[in-house]
This record gives sequence, structure tokens and C-alpha cells, in this order.
Amino acid sequence: MSIALSCKNIEVSFDGFKAVAGVDLDLSRGEVHFLIGPNGAGKTTLVDAITGLAAYTGSVVKDGEELRGRKVHHIARRGIGRTFQTATVFENLTVAQNLDIAAGAGRSPWTLLRRRRHLPQNVVDTMERIGLADRADTPAGVLAHGQKQWLEIGMLLVGDADVLLLDEPIAGMGHDERETTGRLLHDIAVDRAVAVVEHDMDFMRAFASRVTVLHAGAVLATGSVDEVSGDPRVQEVYLGT
Ligand code: ADP
Repeated sequence: MSIALSCKNIEVSFDGFKAVAGVDLDLSRGEVHFLIGPNGAGKTTLVDAITGLAAYTGSVVKDGEELRGRKVHHIARRGIGRTFQTATVFENLTVAQNLDIAAGAGRSPWTLLRRRRHLPQNVVDTMERIGLADRADTPAGVLAHGQKQWLEIGMLLVGDADVLLLDEPIAGMGHDERETTGRLLHDIAVDRAVAVVEHDMDFMRAFASRVTVLHAGAVLATGSVDEVSGDPRVQEVYLGT
């Protein structure tokens, strides 16, 4: 398994308060890596730092390139994609159009015009992969909540993201949608790194290949589900509660 993204000694401060206080984190291709921890542990702020939304000290390296100080769009173009709890899709456009735009991001308008006539193969394949092949012409705004999450993940995939940072992707989903999402995460992690910020412990136990527990801005433990669950410090601050 190769490391796709390496974070070293990340610190994020707000008015002198260290929300992230010296975090090391490696995300590897082939892994669905869950980031867990109590509210306020620093999970979102860490993801904000990686994606260029929060200023930090330390280092984030992808494919040999230091990303600290880079702008959000530069980081996105380097293949680091993120989803939010509330899916940010174009509600008035269809599923296929949303994916087509994401696939064409950064390309010339002429390329996009040509693409209108024939959907690119990666858009067609991605619709199949995210389970929305029969929704190609459905406006994204009328999709079920879970389907919007899958569409958002699909938009990262067609945009060639190979490090995906997903914020509570199963929030608001029923049992079957959760299972489908868990399988999708493993499917896309085969040749990518997937990190999931999550509160749902059952989902984490079922689908994590690796877990990092954050507490008070620092890494409390990292390892397999069993290793982390058996760690007394983790039980004390989190899992035991
Ligand atoms: P988590 O995602 O694990 O719940 P967060 O990263 O949202 O935790 O927050 C970590 C800490 O940083 C919390 O104490 C939170 O109040 C604080 N924090 C987050 N964002 C800001 C901000 N913009 N300004 C000040 N404090 C913040």
C-alpha cells in the first residue's frame, strides 16, 4: 500500500488556541481510513488544513509536492477532493450534467461543448459505479439525500481525485444506504486513499481498514479497529462513553 498523502506535525491555532496540535497522519491508497474523536477534537479543522481552508504550520505532502501555503483550487487540482455533510451538487442540473461538469473542470469551454453530445466514458462508468445509472437525466435537486452524497463522491471521482476526504457521508441515511455507501468507499479505495470523518461507531467498525482517533487536537491512537478499540486511552475518552 502506497502513501498518497503525508501530514507531519500539523498545527492550527485560533487566537492562540491549538485546535490541531501537532498531528501526523498518513493516508494510504487501498485504505478506508476513519478519523474519529469527540466533538471539538479537531477533525474538521485538520481536513480544512489539508484542503487549504485553514492556515497551519507543519507539512502536507502529496506526490512529493509540499502543499502548505497552496490555494484551495491548486490543492483540488492535485487530486485532493472533499465532500461536506450537506452535499454541494448543482440542484438544477441532471446527474449526468453534474458529473460532466466535474469531469470537465479546468478544461476549455470548447471541450465542454463537444462533450455535451457524447457523455465521456468516465461519466458513464461513474454513474454505474455510484448506483445512479438509471438517474442520468434526473435533476440532482430531486435525488434522495443518500443519492446526493453518492453523486458528490462521483464528482470527485470523475475529477480524478485520488485522495478523498469525506465528512460524515452516511449522516441521515437508512440502513441499506449505509451498507451501499460502505461498499462504495471500499470500491473506490482500491486505488485511492479515502478518509472518512465519522461519528457512527457501527459504521466505523463495519468499514474501517484503519482508524485514527483524535482528542483535544492530537492523535490519541491509530491502527486497526481492534487495536484502537482495545486501547484503554481510547475507551476512556471516547469509545467507552
Ligand atoms: P471536530 O470536527 O472534531 O468536532 P473541530 O475541528 O470542528 O472539531 O473543532 C476543533 C476545535 O477548534 C473546537 O474547540 C472548535 O471550537 C475550535 N474551532 C474550530 N473552528 C474555529 C474557528 N474558526 N475559530 C475558533 N475556534 C475554532
